[in-house]
Amino acid sequence: MNWTFAARSLICRFSSTTTEVAMMRIHHINCGNLRPWGGRIVDGFSHGGEARLVCHCWLIETASGLVLVDTGLGSDDLLERQGRLSSFYQTLHRPQISAGLTAERQVRRMGFSPSDVRHIILTHLDCDQAGGISDFPRAQVHVLRDEWSAATERRSWMGRRRYRPEQWQHHPFWNFYEANPQHRWFGFECVRNLMGLPPEIVLVPLRGHTQGHTGVAVKMPHGWMLHAGDAYFYRRELEKEGYHCTLGLRFYQRLLEFNHRQRMFSLRRLRDLVIDHGDEVRICSSHDAIELAAYQAQQLPLAEQYEPLRLSQPLPT
Ligand SMILES: [Zn+2]
Repeated sequence: MNWTFAARSLICRFSSTTTEVAMMRIHHINCGNLRPWGGRIVDGFSHGGEARLVCHCWLIETASGLVLVDTGLGSDDLLERQGRLSSFYQTLHRPQISAGLTAERQVRRMGFSPSDVRHIILTHLDCDQAGGISDFPRAQVHVLRDEWSAATERRSWMGRRRYRPEQWQHHPFWNFYEANPQHRWFGFECVRNLMGLPPEIVLVPLRGHTQGHTGVAVKMPHGWMLHAGDAYFYRRELEKEGYHCTLGLRFYQRLLEFNHRQRMFSLRRLRDLVIDHGDEVRICSSHDAIELAAYQAQQLPLAEQYEPLRLSQPLPT
């Protein structure tokens, strides 16, 4: 264990109220910039032809080591772009891969070692969620079994382009899960007691974008945080009233969805969650740059806070 991590764990241990909940800390990090064409028609705020999307991942400090939720694009995606990323993906998303944005590099910048990352939880296995797995060869990876099946079988045209075994097929440590209908999280089916992880981390399947897409919920001292992955793409899709999505991101989501009915069901359930339990659960998604910036600034992702604050400012990287 890296000394900094050990020291921080000790500090947490003695300053917390002995529960693991109090010791967890979530860092919102961006592990990939995407620049699809379309400007504000896609992201709702950019001036000019390029839109700005991110790969919003979590790095969680827990008593049992660091946990990554999604890995973004990894350092090998930089070196071997062809093969690890399909030309379809590169044309559509126009990823700007930079070594400084990889999770591995950001973990080091925070004073940790990559070997401190003991677990990786994946919302799904799309190439911009899974690209960084190979930077953490000792980590245990956790994913829904349905997603693993879809990613290894790659039956459809889209499946062969979105899932890139070159990124993760040599990784030795995998843990697969199925939702237990007896277990519920705010009414959602869920998976509890992930192998080697604190009980406060729960998988919340949100199917539709991919076959085994899942949210990841973490119980914090002040309430729950839910990483909803690609269950929605635009910050205003979950608004209580007048929710909407840009034309460009509606197109993207339709193009990339595995099952439309399932995706819309997941989206409706998330909206209901905001209406019924918005004071207990905060939610984020993978690709919205403004939403990520709001979380990084420790602000609640309230719609009215977005544009006035950040339109002309560079996004944190
Ligand atoms: Zn995806």
